[in-house]
Amino acid sequence: MQPLRGTKDILPYEIKFWQHIYNIASKILFINNYHEIRTPVIESTELFHRSIGNFTDIVSKEMYSFIDQGDRNITLRPEGTASIARAFISNKLYSNNRINRFWYFGPMFRYERPQKGRQRQFHQLGIECIGSSSPIADIEVIRLAIKILDELQHKEYIVEINSIGNIEERNKYTTLLRNYLNKYVNDLDEDSKKRLVNNPLRILDTKDPRTQEIILKAPKLKECLTLESINHFNNVCQHLNSLNIPYQINDNLVRGLDYYNYTAFEIKTTSKNAQNTICGGGRYDQLIEQLGGPKTPSVGWAIGLERLLLITKETLSLQNQYITIYIIYKNDQINDDLWKIIKVIEKLKINFELDLSNNNLYKQLKKASQRKSKICLILGEDEINNQYVTVKWINTSTQQRIKIHQLYNYLKYLKKHYLNLT
Ligand code: ATP
Ligand code: MG
Repeated sequence: MQPLRGTKDILPYEIKFWQHIYNIASKILFINNYHEIRTPVIESTELFHRSIGNFTDIVSKEMYSFIDQGDRNITLRPEGTASIARAFISNKLYSNNRINRFWYFGPMFRYERPQKGRQRQFHQLGIECIGSSSPIADIEVIRLAIKILDELQHKEYIVEINSIGNIEERNKYTTLLRNYLNKYVNDLDEDSKKRLVNNPLRILDTKDPRTQEIILKAPKLKECLTLESINHFNNVCQHLNSLNIPYQINDNLVRGLDYYNYTAFEIKTTSKNAQNTICGGGRYDQLIEQLGGPKTPSVGWAIGLERLLLITKETLSLQNQYITIYIIYKNDQINDDLWKIIKVIEKLKINFELDLSNNNLYKQLKKASQRKSKICLILGEDEINNQYVTVKWINTSTQQRIKIHQLYNYLKYLKKHYLNLT
């Protein structure tokens, strides 16, 4: 049997990359007072209709929704922000009257055409800074995404940024844009024709060359921005300058979700072409209120882990984890001594593997060397009768006899001086 189209098993040899990213992110975010939050993978479908917007790609064609046995309409979450806003409201997390900083890591689901860096179950690492309208909060979150990329030694990226204004400004612009595009309606691609009715802003990031040409001469969103929006945006850009974060203003960046306002940004890698957007984010000042909570301006982003891994795997040189101690024993002689030894090794936090093959000692020893272990502990007949273990160094084949009651001190010494263990 095969996994479902667009889904992938993450195998043990790849887990070290996932854990590495998780560890790096959690350290950086901890220092910056971001707290991990885990929300359910399933939510009521209505949550996404009310937050992401009915005419967005996600809601109109990418959601995994189903009716459960209790006739509830349920959706596998396609992104994290809506769930966090919901959790913020249903757990009354606003009652502490503080800025709440959260981060999350987990699977998301979108019914899309699978390709490199695009899956139906994929993973996002995301952060949300909830409760501030200051442009400094926008910079705080952007800087943290950059910090994580830097720490992962990925240097080839650019931040694309735009201000999409507030709702009134966007409505005003939508009318201008629709009027302009109506003149060219026959030249638009099919997708854009549909969007012209429901979601004309999305036409701005069309991939169709003819539509792109038409867009070039279209009115610009920034022409509809008021001073307040412009100041917010200029402020963000000034800080990007002083932080030396490479960025580009992209007038056509609108992002796929309805709930954004003011700052919208994406981080793109310049090292590969296919699916080069690794992070998307922006400000969402109305979302929490729109879902029934108090007015709470917020800003955040999400990084696609599969895409991040594609570009960082090559630069990260993570050690292969070999086992340190291989334990072999003559299995018809098994007695409590085996468990005594295992408990000693565990106590010292050294990793080990116990041979379970039923083979003779010679074959077991061969396995120890194939497994690239450093030392092998042998518990044979003579060892058991005389209460010792034989320690054999795989590289040099030298061996020593160590009394079982001295094994702890012996291994402790080895761990410190010879086994290169941390
Ligand atoms: P795209 O334009 O590539 O479809 P998006 O705008 O739909 O991206 P967001 O909703 O902003 O994506 O999600 C944030 C990040 O999550 C993206 O930048 C990307 O790295 C990742 N992502 C989104 N959809 C997928 C997917 N189907 N498979 C893998 N990663 C994804
Ligand atoms: Mg998408």
